[in-house]
Amino acid sequence: MKFPLTQQLIDEARTYELRSACRDCFYWDARTSKCRHDWPDEGQRRWPLDAKDPDTGEVPSHVAFCKEFELR
Ligand code: SF4
Repeated sequence: MKFPLTQQLIDEARTYELRSACRDCFYWDARTSKCRHDWPDEGQRRWPLDAKDPDTGEVPSHVAFCKEFELR
């Protein structure tokens, strides 16, 4: 699911130490840098939420939350 990346979401993610990215997911294989379910991790892998796009250098306008996320 994709949501607009708002300043409120960025602030709340920091305040409450949100864990929603692949790096905090049980299904993330850090050794291979891939999802064990082979999901595309576009947007979901990014952390922090407002990290700049490495290709464009811009802060993204949306954030993705994966329905299969399992906190490890
Ligand atoms: S299940 Fe979703 S959140 Fe977990 S590693 Fe795969 S893409 Fe990332």
